[in-house]
Amino acid sequence: MTMITSTPTTSQSGSRNATAAFAATDVTPVLRVENLEVTYYTDLGRAKALDDVSFTLNAGEKMGMVGESGSGKSTLALAMMRMIKPPGRIEAGRVLVGDTDLMSLSDEGMRLARLSKIAYIPQGAMNSLNPVTRIGAQLVDAIKSHMPKESRSSIEERCVHALKSVDLDPSVFRMYAHELSGGMKQRVCIAIGILLSPQVIIADEPTSALDVVTQRQVMETIDRVQDQINAAVILIGHDMGLMAQFVDKVSVMYAGRLVEVSTVREMFTEPKHPYAKALISSLPNLDNKGVFQGIPGLAPSLLRLPTGCAFHPRCASAMPRCSVERPEVTTLESGRRVACHLYTEEA
Ligand code: SF4
Repeated sequence: MTMITSTPTTSQSGSRNATAAFAATDVTPVLRVENLEVTYYTDLGRAKALDDVSFTLNAGEKMGMVGESGSGKSTLALAMMRMIKPPGRIEAGRVLVGDTDLMSLSDEGMRLARLSKIAYIPQGAMNSLNPVTRIGAQLVDAIKSHMPKESRSSIEERCVHALKSVDLDPSVFRMYAHELSGGMKQRVCIAIGILLSPQVIIADEPTSALDVVTQRQVMETIDRVQDQINAAVILIGHDMGLMAQFVDKVSVMYAGRLVEVSTVREMFTEPKHPYAKALISSLPNLDNKGVFQGIPGLAPSLLRLPTGCAFHPRCASAMPRCSVERPEVTTLESGRRVACHLYTEEA
C-alpha cells in the first residue's frame, strides 16, 4: 500500500474539483444513482447486497469508492451496468446518465448504452483480453455493433486514436496480449472503455496486481482520458493512498450501504463516520512509524446483519440506540452525507 501523510496532495487534478464538487449545486449531475437496491436470494437466505444507495456525480468529477471486501462496491458497479446475475436481483432504484434511466431501458437499449453512455472496466480486466486475437480486433469487436453504418477503416481509426489517447503506440493495434506488459494491457482496457466517449466510467480496482510505478501511470492515464472526454469516473479500490491523490470525493461503503460521502480533503483530514475514521486511521503514515491500527472485529455477513446500525458491534462510539435504530443518510450543513446517529442533530 502506498504510504501517505495525513492529508492528500493538492497538486493532482483529483483535488481540483474537491471544493466545487459540493459547492456547484447548480450543476446538473451527469450521473444520479437513486435508491438502488440489490438482493441475492441464496439457499441460506436473502442477502441485501445494496441497500438504498444514492449519490450523484458531475461531469469531470472523480469519486473513489472504498470499503472492506464484501461491502458492496463491485455489486454497485454491476447493478449500475445492469449486469447482476441470478440469484441476484435489482429490486429498486434508478441510475440516470444524463436524462436516461438505465433501469428503464430495454435489454437492447442497455446493450447500446454500455460503452456509449457508461463503461465498466472490471476487476482483472487486463487478464480477460483474448490471448489469440490481436488487440486491434478486440477493440473493433467491442464497438462495431454500436456503429453499423461506420466503415471498417473508420472504426479502426477510432481504435488507434483511443490507443494513442492512453499513451500506447499505434503498433499495439496489431499485437497480441502476451506481447504487452501488465500496465499496457490495463491501458488497452481503458482504451476500450473510452472508445465511444461515455459520460460515466467505472473502473473496478484498475491498479491491482500492478507495481507502484505502473499503478501511478495507469491512474495518470485515467486522469488524462477523463479530461479529454469530461467523463464522470468512479474508482473502486482499497488503496486509500492512490485515492488521496487522484479522486475529488470519496464514498465509504459498509454492509451494502453508503455510510459517508465527503470531499477527499474532508475525508482524509476529518472523517465523520466512525467506520471512515477507522479506515483512515488504519492507514500507514509517516507519524505512526509502522504501528498499524486495524479495525476491530470482522465485516458482518450480509445474511445476518446486526440490528440497527450494522457497524455497531465494531463501533467505539456506539450508543444504546445504535443497536436498535438504523441511522438514515443525512446531509450535513457542509454538504457531506453521513449515516450515523452521532450526526443526526447536526444534520
Ligand atoms: Fe457507531 Fe452508532 Fe454511528 Fe453506527 S450509528 S457508526 S454504531 S455511533
